[in-house]
Amino acid sequence: MAVPKMVYEWRLGIDDTDSLEGGCTTHFMFNILKEFKHKIKLVEYPLLIRLNPNIPWKTRGNGAVGIRFLANEEQAINIFEYVKEMLPPPSKKLKRNSGAILAKAEVLKKEIDSIVRKALTSVVGLNEVLKMIQKKELLYHAKGNKRGLIGALSVCGYEFLGDFTYELLLYRSPENYGTKRSVSLESIKKLEKRFSPQIFSSYDFETNTPLILPRGKDPVLLGIRSKNAELLKKAVKTLDILEPVEGGLIFKTNQATDDHFKRLSKKELGFNNVFYSTVKVSKKPERMIGGHVRVLVKDIKNEEDFWVVAYEPSKRFRDIVSKLIPEDLLWVGGGIRDEMFENRYTLNLERLIILRTVNEYKKINPDCPICGKKLTSKGKNQGFKCKKCGKSYPDAKPKLIPIKRQVMPGLYLPPLTAQRHLTKPLERFCEYNEIKNSDLRHEKKEVLSQDFFIDKSYFY
Ligand code: ATP
Repeated sequence: MAVPKMVYEWRLGIDDTDSLEGGCTTHFMFNILKEFKHKIKLVEYPLLIRLNPNIPWKTRGNGAVGIRFLANEEQAINIFEYVKEMLPPPSKKLKRNSGAILAKAEVLKKEIDSIVRKALTSVVGLNEVLKMIQKKELLYHAKGNKRGLIGALSVCGYEFLGDFTYELLLYRSPENYGTKRSVSLESIKKLEKRFSPQIFSSYDFETNTPLILPRGKDPVLLGIRSKNAELLKKAVKTLDILEPVEGGLIFKTNQATDDHFKRLSKKELGFNNVFYSTVKVSKKPERMIGGHVRVLVKDIKNEEDFWVVAYEPSKRFRDIVSKLIPEDLLWVGGGIRDEMFENRYTLNLERLIILRTVNEYKKINPDCPICGKKLTSKGKNQGFKCKKCGKSYPDAKPKLIPIKRQVMPGLYLPPLTAQRHLTKPLERFCEYNEIKNSDLRHEKKEVLSQDFFIDKSYFY
């Protein structure tokens, strides 16, 4: 009698299979699962994990993909061989350096945590990743400069810290790549009105922009997001899709969870790092060429000064920053630019909490104590004089009249069009009462192909 083969939980991570000229790492996973969806048992939805959004060599949203599945050694290696064959060739021009890793879940353990955390918040060195691969004897395959292994290992080692969301992605028929996406705008607006906040960031009524349609040459037709995967499957059918669909996948993601802020252990200013801190405004904000606004702030813990910048496209958000005044107390979070400005770091602002505003005053000249007329200034620090009585008042001080502040304490985010994938949008702050408790928990259980895979027949 043949001995049954041991079944293990495996983790497969893949990154950097795309370029601005086409492709998408999520679509690569779609093709893998098209082939294997009935042959393996996923223990979780396919993963789309967004890493540090400030990495200069990313193509778009710095996403890496993965699956977690049960299989015996032979089946797992069979899938990995297929992935290896499918990985696109490296390209210097397209900055494409694909990487894939296969690991048994049990060998990853805690040690990978620090790499995952770093991948979300700062820059990971390839050597560090290669050493870990060697130490853990992981199966890997990499092209070009092998950089794709950084994202691939990060997905393998990734653990959800409670919060997560799903994204349902639909893919286009190849003959339509590069053309305008044909989905009725009216139906996207209706989707937003009907399903928000459970389905979030679908249409931005502030800027009149659909948020579910990407703009590039990639194969993604649209992506809708929610904490509730089943709802996504129902809701996508309400859209008027006017071009053929190749199929789709539902990914479990760390998008819209502020994951990059949550993973910071040591909040260090450094190029391309994620950073947040509580600060006080040191100087009045300045408007820069191009309409951007910057403000000098002081970290209240280490007293370090740095610039905070809100860019022109963030419009209303930038206007809020321009109304801050010295001594306002803030929480600021974002990414550090990779150049110094007047010897100081610059934080590209992604999230602002105004914790406390100070009173703002307008200075006006005091009244004459004799005749009651307004005094006139004699020059800086030289006191005042009454033109009517002719008397001087060298010690008189200007009157301070409180004026209404234009900003209030609260949480401020850029418009939806300018938000990062990882940013938790305002809509998500009110979802918790609306979803069953079981949907909120991160539970590992078998996920069937009909749960995560969307066949083109779903629409016809
Ligand atoms: P898309 O989102 O469209 O799939 P992308 O924006 O994810 O594309 P990639 O083409 O995957 O961009 O390029 C990102 C590259 O950066 C990958 O090779 C990935 O391994 C690497 N990378 C990701 N995070 C880090 C990090 N924190 N430090 C160093 N390298 C990183």
